[in-house]
Amino acid sequence: MGTSTQEAIDLEKKYGANNYAPLPVVLERGEGVYVWDVEGKKYFDFLSAYSAVNQGHVHPRILNTMTKQASKLTLTSRAFYSDQLGKAEEMLCQLFGYERAILMNTGAEGNETAIKLARKWGYEQKGIPQNEAIIVGVEKNFHGRTTTIISASTDPVATTNFGPFMPGFEIVPYNNLEALENVLQNPNVAGLWMEPIQGEAGVYLPDNGYLKKAQALCKKYNVLFMVDEVQTGVGRTGKLLASDYEEIKPDMIILGKAISGGFYPVSAVLTSSEVMDVFQPGQHGSTYGGNPLACAVIMEALQVLQDERLTENAFRLGNIFRARMQELCKQTELLVGVRGRGLLNALIVNDTEESSTATQICYELMHNGLLAKPTHGNIIRFAPPLVINEHQLNKCLDIIEATIKKFELVVS
Ligand SMILES: *Cc1c(COP(=O)(O)O)cnc(C)c1O
Repeated sequence: MGTSTQEAIDLEKKYGANNYAPLPVVLERGEGVYVWDVEGKKYFDFLSAYSAVNQGHVHPRILNTMTKQASKLTLTSRAFYSDQLGKAEEMLCQLFGYERAILMNTGAEGNETAIKLARKWGYEQKGIPQNEAIIVGVEKNFHGRTTTIISASTDPVATTNFGPFMPGFEIVPYNNLEALENVLQNPNVAGLWMEPIQGEAGVYLPDNGYLKKAQALCKKYNVLFMVDEVQTGVGRTGKLLASDYEEIKPDMIILGKAISGGFYPVSAVLTSSEVMDVFQPGQHGSTYGGNPLACAVIMEALQVLQDERLTENAFRLGNIFRARMQELCKQTELLVGVRGRGLLNALIVNDTEESSTATQICYELMHNGLLAKPTHGNIIRFAPPLVINEHQLNKCLDIIEATIKKFELVVS
């Protein structure tokens, strides 16, 4: 006998940390866009592990590559070369259009690496006085959970009682070029750090042209533009990078999540030779960073993305998703709108950020066979694996529509 839902939940409650609020569903198997719980019930996964499984659950090609590499060589540390790392770096650079890549494990570590690169570049190339470097972030940012990264957070849930905080960050309002230019004039600014679309905050898109103008301001004031594409990258938004919508070329991009298709924690920072060369032996590293297993997995995951044209699929199906949801929003008082790009979308519920309405809707969606999570009390993110097809998407749209309509009847 396998574990029942209640047993699994009780066990986590008893022995685990209470740092998440999961939906009460216990998953044991996944394939493509589907996951199954321990009772055998099948669901559409509309979270995709926060956009880490863009290639779908347990993609057979990535599984095969991972198994093969795992039986050959998994970890060397960077004390020695491996036959996989250079190939993976080359593929990352060629695919995304950069000169150099450094591999880490989690998205947070990728962002930490970008901060260290920017600071060191600031001192050695821009001539910022020692320990005076500033990284500019934007309000409602999400870049991970380390003590340094939360020092730039404006979300009290992420920061309360975790101080003291790391100095050297300045926060400006998102989507406000005037405030940005004001702060970039400070000659001690080394980097501007942001997400091209704010995923965790609730899928906030800046105005068209904002990223392009932010990049121009960075050029004007000799500041590195560091763009966190951990959630938005790798085809999720219907382009390889969300940055591609404004045809910008950040000085640094941070990747994570879907570069490994959900098999293994891998992150990367891509940049120019000029910036990357500020790192010299001993100055930065990670035992598992760039290990052969990680490298083999990301190469296959990125190849699958291209071979299966998942980015193009996300673009096309994203338009269908938003068109249907816009229609739904017109028919119900419960929804205010839908926003997003590609298959990273959010439905905005007609309630406050503190309300539990979005959570209640997600419970109903779960009962109806579709898993999604609110990012805030009134925002539900919808981000299925990019391998979803039109027929499956239409079924999901039917589920969402029926759930919303029934929910409206119950609450009104
Ligand atoms: C998820 C996420 C991170 C953090 O990645 P972890 O692997 O959880 O450390 C950083 N930035 C963005 C934009 C993310 O969505």
